[in-house]
Amino acid sequence: MFDPTYTEEQQALVDTARKFAAETIIPVAGEYDERAEHPQEVFEKAWALGLMNVEVPEAYGGLGLSTLEGCLISEQLAYGCAGIATSIMCNHLGCLPLMIAGTEAQKEKFLGWVTRELVFASYCCSEPEAGSDVAGMRTKLDKDGDGWRLNGQKRWITNGGYANFYTGFATIDPSLRHKGITGFVIERDRPGVSVGKKENKLGQRASNTVDVIFEDVHLTDEDLLGRPGQGFPIAMETFDKSRPMIAACAAGLIGRALDECVQYAKERKTFGVPIASHQAIQFMIAEMAMAYEVTKLLYSKAAWEVDHEVKRTSTSAIAKAMGADLAMKVTTDAVQVFGGYGYTKEYPVEKLMRDAKLLQIYEGTSQIQRMVIAKNILVRG
Ligand SMILES: Cc1cc2nc3c(=O)[nH]c(=O)nc-3n(C[C@H](O)[C@H](O)[C@H](O)COP(=O)(O)OP(=O)(O)OC[C@H]3O[C@@H](n4cnc5c(N)ncnc54)[C@H](O)[C@@H]3O)c2cc1C
Repeated sequence: MFDPTYTEEQQALVDTARKFAAETIIPVAGEYDERAEHPQEVFEKAWALGLMNVEVPEAYGGLGLSTLEGCLISEQLAYGCAGIATSIMCNHLGCLPLMIAGTEAQKEKFLGWVTRELVFASYCCSEPEAGSDVAGMRTKLDKDGDGWRLNGQKRWITNGGYANFYTGFATIDPSLRHKGITGFVIERDRPGVSVGKKENKLGQRASNTVDVIFEDVHLTDEDLLGRPGQGFPIAMETFDKSRPMIAACAAGLIGRALDECVQYAKERKTFGVPIASHQAIQFMIAEMAMAYEVTKLLYSKAAWEVDHEVKRTSTSAIAKAMGADLAMKVTTDAVQVFGGYGYTKEYPVEKLMRDAKLLQIYEGTSQIQRMVIAKNILVRG
């Protein structure tokens, strides 16, 4: 049975991540956002403190924490800065296909690498013409003697410019759609791998987002994840396991917006009284508190299901869609609570609103989550 309480150890993880967000992320988040720069110093500290790659099994040098524990940490990091949290979570996203389908040799090499030193992993699924429609990807894997030749362009790749290795997907035959998708894992320094344009984004600007280009990259069978044509279920399972973390990120943004609003509403006066005395403001704050509880429960349940191998894609999708939509609403209301000041960079709430928008887009848009949820209800029963 799902039990929404946390152990002492889990609470200690929350406290560590919360302290890290307060002391190391929040003081620099605004600057990195403004400059749209990769905060290497923050990642170095997060890695040293054990806040990255937390779910890598102990056998490969990781902490072997659960999805729920990873989510608890992600919430706190996102409380500090959703962009920085995204880049930290991205290592987990990049490692998930290996955890799901990697051979022992691949796991030892790549999972062992992320726990030995600070290296970045990126997940290369989306393309310029294929985001929601994963099966429509064009990046091509052709047989080449004993091995394979990889050609194509991936878009919106988080941490792509800094990644030391990429897990990704290509097709052996686009006409096969889902049945042609094939997983792979390759190092960044492989001949033919390059990084293209960097996106100039609305929010989560401290997180690096680039094109990754493959030109006649030579792969062997040892570089494939799973068998040729069997990559689509790996990509989907990756999303099932990573989406609770996006919901946790939403909870972090909602919690931060709530705290900022409570503090400001008690200080700011209009008509001779703090704005916290106005019912209109109180109701917005009450709805923020409601949104926080809902999102926290949803991500906890979705993570619990992943940890207990309950195969229900819809729970992850519900947590992700609801969390993202609530984060968008709450952060927009937070700007409203702050009035004109909320619209300026003097206060952090405009950044929360910009950062929240991405939660409705990446790892499957809010529309795609609804399609997944409806399919589970209508088709699978
Ligand atoms: C900052 C950022 C970071 C990202 N990081 C990564 C990453 O690390 N790795 C990676 O692989 N990808 C990444 N992505 C890609 C992301 O997952 C895609 O952008 C997303 O899946 C949407 O794809 P798209 O942009 O092509 O939009 P489209 O698929 O073109 O969708 C456009 C609109 O149409 C809607 N839509 C599409 N199809 C349907 C349908 N059938 N029914 C109803 N509505 C529909 C969508 O909801 C959306 O509103 C990232 C994206 C961003 C912006």
